[in-house]
Amino acid sequence: MNLICKHCETSKVNRPRGLCWGCYYTPGVKDMYPSTSKYARRGVGNFSGNAPVAHLPTAHPPGTPEKMAVLEERAKNRQALWHPLDAQYPGDPRPLEVLQAQGELLAA
Ligand SMILES: [Zn+2]
Repeated sequence: MNLICKHCETSKVNRPRGLCWGCYYTPGVKDMYPSTSKYARRGVGNFSGNAPVAHLPTAHPPGTPEKMAVLEERAKNRQALWHPLDAQYPGDPRPLEVLQAQGELLAA
């Protein structure tokens, strides 16, 4: 695996996000590239305080890659990571009801 840095396209990747050491630690550069790991909690930034709750809950149960992607998206949008109606277990009907009401439920 010899990946080339996404930013300078000359150095070998040895930092997260497909960046080389120099680019990764150049201020501002790393922010231009999204985290390559869906599981990374750092990267999109940890923030605390009062963030707005996401528009819609997710029907993906905790611990799934899909749920992690949702959390990452919310963090990027500076939204609260947890929606009160997020699925708590597979098949949790609460988010499904909201999504159906919004007409946003795709065939599951
Ligand atoms: Zn580079």
